[in-house]
Amino acid sequence: MELSRKNLGIAASLTLEIDAKAKRMKGQGIDVIGFGAGEPDFPTPSFIIEAAKEALDKGYTRYTPSSGIMELRQSICDKLLRDNKVSYEPNEILVSNGAKHSLYNIFQAILNPGDEVIIPSPYWVSYPEMVKMADGIPVFVDTMAENNFGINLEKLKEAITGRTKAIIINSPNNPSGCVYKREQIEGIAQLALEHDFYIVSDEIYEELLYDGAQHLSIASLDPQVRDITLLVNGMSKAYAMTGWRIGYTAGNSKIINVMANIQSHATSNPNSIAQYASLAALNSSKDIIKDMVSQFDTRRRFMADRINGIAGISCTIPQGAFYVMMNINKTLNRMHNGRVLGSSLDFADALLESKNVAVVPGIAFGADGYVRLSYATSKENIDEGLNRIESFVKELV
Ligand SMILES: *Cc1c(COP(=O)(O)O)cnc(C)c1O
Repeated sequence: MELSRKNLGIAASLTLEIDAKAKRMKGQGIDVIGFGAGEPDFPTPSFIIEAAKEALDKGYTRYTPSSGIMELRQSICDKLLRDNKVSYEPNEILVSNGAKHSLYNIFQAILNPGDEVIIPSPYWVSYPEMVKMADGIPVFVDTMAENNFGINLEKLKEAITGRTKAIIINSPNNPSGCVYKREQIEGIAQLALEHDFYIVSDEIYEELLYDGAQHLSIASLDPQVRDITLLVNGMSKAYAMTGWRIGYTAGNSKIINVMANIQSHATSNPNSIAQYASLAALNSSKDIIKDMVSQFDTRRRFMADRINGIAGISCTIPQGAFYVMMNINKTLNRMHNGRVLGSSLDFADALLESKNVAVVPGIAFGADGYVRLSYATSKENIDEGLNRIESFVKELV
């Protein structure tokens, strides 16, 4: 029997697939260096785990309100006011099963068939697929390494049509590490107000900033901008809580209500225990995050320096998140062990097969001249992995 035509066209997440392949090889005893990870390698801080245990002991094991417990929604409001300088009420917050689920709910709530969503490229793998799952059309705007992958407002203007319904911004950016400058954020807001479209702001990496880079929440610019912005964030990246699955959206209550209705039928509440753990995380001091950031920072410099020391590959220095986009253009159409490397997929595959090093092909992010390396792994792994990459590149003919 025929399956859903719309959803047959949805691709599997290439990043999750590569991560799974590397983990499988490791399980077979192969000495794999994994640069594919999209998650911090640190354990969840112990005080958060204690809060979860306490929630269990207290019997917080039942359904909660579908949109999340009131205490958590209130502490999300407190966090947004304190850190992001934007004021929300608890009825303007929806807690979901990870920020990924928040984004999914948003597109289900705002899109009608044929609506266009502007996505700066390179982009996070799931954005185009989520837009398509909601009958929308992704429209890509390229960003350039020469410009540190920042958005070019002139190019953005050219992509706007009468059907533009939203733009997705993700700063600090996965995969490029770009942190948008104030002028860029203001320019995007102005265009959205002028042309009447929503801003979906994925701020999941806001805590992971280097070299003095600053995060600016677009919703904080003024109340009009706040009204058309859906601010997405979550616990995964800042608190090393990827497995707990808690993310949230802040926005105009009209949209939040539609999203909450969808969620109430699709999943009901996010995990009750994880909600209490998140409450403890958000109410804690940020020392724990500072420590992780300083370790990421050391690895970031180390990785970028190593890459730029190898002839034939290069990278720009990322200012946020925990990824490096490694430029492999000069290696393309060369041969490794008799195999032509025609694309980032070929490069990643040959590297994994011959050197047991897992990277994510740039094609997953709409950037075929690159592969993405995550530095959410130990310095020893980075060192060994780059030794292997160096020998791989030297073997190209
Ligand atoms: C990791 C990630 C998310 C979502 O993570 P969750 O675990 O679902 O909260 C969202 N956006 C980007 C760009 C990410 O890298």
